[in-house]
Amino acid sequence: MTSIRQVSAAPALSADLAAVAANTRRFVSLARGCVMAVVKADGFGHGLGDVARTAVAAGATWIGVTSLAEAVEVRESGVDVPVLSWLNPVDVEVSQAVRYGIDLSVPSLAHLAAIEAGPVRVHLQLDTGMARDGAAPHEWLALMSAARRAELAGKVSVVGVMGHLPCADTTGANETGRKALLRGVEMARQAGLRPSVRHLAATSAALTDPSSHLDVVRIGAGLVGIDPSGTTRLRSALRFTAPVVQVRRVEAGVGVGYGHAHVTERATTLALLPVGYADGVPRAASGRAEVFLGGRRRPVVGVISMDQVVVDVGDDGVAPGDEAVVFGPGDEGEPTVADWARWAGTIPHEIVTGIGTRVQRCVR
Ligand SMILES: *Cc1c(COP(=O)(O)O)cnc(C)c1O
Repeated sequence: MTSIRQVSAAPALSADLAAVAANTRRFVSLARGCVMAVVKADGFGHGLGDVARTAVAAGATWIGVTSLAEAVEVRESGVDVPVLSWLNPVDVEVSQAVRYGIDLSVPSLAHLAAIEAGPVRVHLQLDTGMARDGAAPHEWLALMSAARRAELAGKVSVVGVMGHLPCADTTGANETGRKALLRGVEMARQAGLRPSVRHLAATSAALTDPSSHLDVVRIGAGLVGIDPSGTTRLRSALRFTAPVVQVRRVEAGVGVGYGHAHVTERATTLALLPVGYADGVPRAASGRAEVFLGGRRRPVVGVISMDQVVVDVGDDGVAPGDEAVVFGPGDEGEPTVADWARWAGTIPHEIVTGIGTRVQRCVR
């Protein structure tokens, strides 16, 4: 009689909210001002509402996101602290922001001119050295006077001025951005505006440069355990698992997967996992990646496919239904998000925000 083992659950991603809470408390205690929890991109892949509620319960007093749609989702998850959305098209639905009590950034004259409904709370956004989002320094003066006129007309209420640092992972690189922001605030005051919240620093600068903190630090990566500055041990929160769906014994000299990028050197056992690059397992990590299976790390062999990867387990007994850990906090020897980022030639942020939609989500 053949015994057929029940194949265990599907690939799953679980977020450890206690880790998010611990990381949040750490930033709350080190920040000179307040902490804005940045929960864009589904809370860096950890669940937007869960991360927002956890961070607020742990002491964050602001929430930050890119789109207005994300901000509305934060509100609907039951969070009642100020929420800022800083990346929107010119024709963003301002009345919706007003209805949900959401602050918007104003990065250009065109954005300001398009505001009809109001008053909406705004943060004037200055490009402090990235040539990316925010108003260029030469546009700032005009933006300040237009903002003052819009305030007098009852369309906006200016509550903040924000910038972002281009090289915060490099020590000593923040001074130019900080000076630019403070100059921008001074010009706002001269135009008659009274912004009370100045913010510039994200995770790296918050960890390494207190002079950049100002009134609010915007923390995204750090909340979920990613430290781009490499200075601080934060708690990783994400665990990505997949069940073995098939096991086969092969001889030496067998080509594995597309293009036979790997050929077995000796007789071995291959285990198949139902996750691939469509699930956020980066194809660029092929040939280097490992997973934790059957008590230790094992190499992923051959090219990572869209939906599946093959793991070489040698002569060890691994069975369908056994759980492989693709990544986790690393406490038991499993690969971490940082390992996957290194194998794929990217940063941890891209790994955690890239997990595919068919992977089941849960919280711990
Ligand atoms: C994403 C983002 C943050 C958060 O940055 P982390 O380094 O992840 O903390 C802060 N500010 C802006 C403008 C962002 O886009």
